[in-house]
Amino acid sequence: MSARSLDGIATAARIRAELGDRIARFTAAAGRPPALGIVLAGDDPASQIYVSSKLRTAGDAGCRAELFRLPADASLDETLAVVARLNADDTFDGILVQSPLPKGMGRDAEQRVFDTVSPAKDVDGFHAQNVGLLVQKRARLVACTPAGVMQLLAREGITLAGKRAVVIGRSDIVGKPMALLLLHEDATVTICHSRTPDVAAIASDADVLVAAVGRPAYVTPAYVKPGATVIDVGINRVDDAALVAGWYPEGHPRRQVFEKKQSLVIGDVHPAVWDVAGAVTPVPGGVGPLTIAMLLANTVTAAEARAGLLATR
Ligand code: NAP
Repeated sequence: MSARSLDGIATAARIRAELGDRIARFTAAAGRPPALGIVLAGDDPASQIYVSSKLRTAGDAGCRAELFRLPADASLDETLAVVARLNADDTFDGILVQSPLPKGMGRDAEQRVFDTVSPAKDVDGFHAQNVGLLVQKRARLVACTPAGVMQLLAREGITLAGKRAVVIGRSDIVGKPMALLLLHEDATVTICHSRTPDVAAIASDADVLVAAVGRPAYVTPAYVKPGATVIDVGINRVDDAALVAGWYPEGHPRRQVFEKKQSLVIGDVHPAVWDVAGAVTPVPGGVGPLTIAMLLANTVTAAEARAGLLATR
């Protein structure tokens, strides 16, 4: 392993600490802290962990964070009604509806939710209005995961102007906004997806490679230019011992984690990439903590903007 580890935990802590003054100023001016409402439908265990972490992070930072729970068999209309109540409630600045929604709500449920959250309170940055502003490089509320990656790159001194960037994945929540943000920093950006032939040939040309695929260890050394910066967005839970044994030798700390928990969270980047790349985000401890820090940043930004405390752009 020779690549530099890009520490998302430390960067996220710095981002949160820097928000302290803004939270205190808002609280003094508004007579209440910035407030985030989180809607959780169903009982998906991973979602419950993410939501607890978001609530704790917001609370620890001095914001108010409240959870609105719906049963797994709740209808989409019931979920949209909670969002509408939060839209109308002046004491909430940000609204987040945790994904995935229960399957019973239908295929377009997430899109309907994105369309319903007030753009001013859209701390996920998924509303079409905020996406449009992002395209025009004037968004205030940007999708948290790609925004966090940009913070990490900037703070680690990884410049983008004139560089080749490749994003693998084209989802609305990660791949597309990620590509736009890299473009806005003057990188030359290529997006790959499941219909792209020979992704490795394209990816291995990148100075900055972002993997947002959702397939464990998908990015092997063949996808990576020596010395490149590799951002691993993937979060994949693996419970196949043979796969884990193929990735990590006997006695490796990650293998010990697997043996203890009988499952392992692994990114989209194969461990052997660390021997080729110049810098890599670890999983866990890379992009994940940044996503939550940017949720907090977006909540504060939404609160400030709603209170007229931000200069208009
Ligand atoms: P997604 O909506 O499933 O999108 C995955 C993308 O990968 C799609 O665009 C898909 O292409 C592409 N893809 C799939 N197989 C491919 C292949 N063999 N070659 C090239 N491209 C391929 O997932 P997502 O929501 O963007 O999330 C991606 C990963 O990031 C997941 O592991 C997720 O858990 C993780 N994630 C992490 C954070 C964090 O905070 N760290 C936040 C969000 C998501 P098509 O469009 O052609 O299907």
